[in-house]
This record gives sequence, structure tokens and C-alpha cells, in this order.
Amino acid sequence: MASAQHPPNVRVSSHPLIAHKLSLLRDRTTTPKLFRELVRELTWLLGYEAMADLSTQPHPIETPLEPMTGHQVEPKVGFIPVLRAGLGMVDAMLELMPSAEVWHIGLYRDERTLKPVEYYNKLPDAATVQLCLILDPMLATGGSAAATVDILKAWGAARVKQVSLIAAPEGIATLSAAHPDVDIHVAAVDRELNERGYIVPGLGDAGDRQFGTFAGPSSEPGHDRVDETAEVVRRLQRDLPAAQRNVPKEPPPDR
Ligand code: URA
Repeated sequence: MASAQHPPNVRVSSHPLIAHKLSLLRDRTTTPKLFRELVRELTWLLGYEAMADLSTQPHPIETPLEPMTGHQVEPKVGFIPVLRAGLGMVDAMLELMPSAEVWHIGLYRDERTLKPVEYYNKLPDAATVQLCLILDPMLATGGSAAATVDILKAWGAARVKQVSLIAAPEGIATLSAAHPDVDIHVAAVDRELNERGYIVPGLGDAGDRQFGTFAGPSSEPGHDRVDETAEVVRRLQRDLPAAQRNVPKEPPPDR
């Protein structure tokens, strides 16, 4: 469903199964095992919606009874999981489209420039697919997403879509401003980013929750770079068009 408060390229699913599963996913008591299962199920449902506009071409087949003209999906499709949290979305997408290619992209944020820096990219010289679906459970600042689209467009991808479970309004604004032609498919748009770059209410760190890595040093969002992260978040929130702010803050108590 496109919504009035979001740019026209944003599709927030209104499917009740997605809403139900997303609530289970957000719950802090959900174990990594259940979390992974829910990521997979939600990705399947969102992927189904994200690929609803794929073109098909006529394809002759023979049923046991007679020849007929069937359909074959036209574009070559690539799934682009953003490391590491996007990994949990790959299997569900491959169930939907087993012939798709999977190209991994790794990005981290430079501590001085605060710009995304590529650390893993094995894309061949020329694009091998026409449609790329970027897989990243959380569309937070939008910096990595916009940089991933830059990479894919430079590679030669004709069309790019972003598939995320939860987005922040700041991430949507950044990605849509940089790439208005990129459709963004999400299960929910949450209220905002906090000063550590987490989406709130969100679900916490999607990588840690999938892989059970709660004790280790954290990479994204910035645990140990709180000041820089907070500055980036403040800048994104200043730049956010009023119409795209999500749920308004609680009004002060009436007394
Ligand atoms: N990445 C996450 O895993 N969680 C957030 O809330 C934001 C970015």
C-alpha cells in the first residue's frame, strides 16, 4: 500500500499476517531461532509483494492434455543481501525465485567521514541481472542503502528495489532523495532513529538477534561511536520533511 505520508516509491504492507509476524519479531523475548524463522517468513511475504510487478513473457508448454502458452518471468533477478543482517533474508527469496543470483555487499561506516565504505563486493565487471532486490532488514539512516544503490546502478542494473522489514522515516527520506526511482518495500515504518542510530520502537540489532551475538563488540549501529552517530541522526532529523515524520511525538500532559 502506498501511503500519503510517504514518498510514492514506498510500499508499506498492510497484510495482517505481516503485522502479526512483525510483532512477534519485535518482542524482546523472541529467541534467535524464532527470530530467524520470522525473518524468513516475513521476507517471503514481502518478497512476494515486491515482485508483484515483474513482467512475464509468453512461454509455450505442454500440459498432459494439450499444448498451451504459459508465462515466464522476464527480467533476470539478483538478490543483494547487505552483510550481515541481510543474510537471513536470502533463503526465503531463493524459495520464491530459485533461478535468481545472489551478490553480497558489505559496507561499514567510516568513523571520520561517516560515509559508508565498501568492504565486500565481488560483482563482476558488467551487470548479469536486470532487476536487483537489496535485502536489509533495517532501513535506518539510509546511508548504506543509498550507497548500495549507487554501486548497483554503476554496475549496470536497470532497476533496483529495497526490501526491508522495518524502516525509519530518516532512512526513507535519504534513500528516496538519492534514488527516487527505487521502490522501497517494508513491513512497517517506525517512529524515528534514536541517538545511537537504532530504529525505535524497532527490534534492536537485527544481526545480533538473528545470530545470537549479544556479547561481542558491535558494528552497526554505532555502539562505541555514540557522539558521531548522534550527530548524523540529528542532521537526518533536521533534513526530514515534516510530511514524512511518522507518528507525532506525544503532546505534553494537559495540566
Ligand atoms: N540496524 C539494526 O540492526 N537495528 C536498527 O535499529 C538500526 C540498524
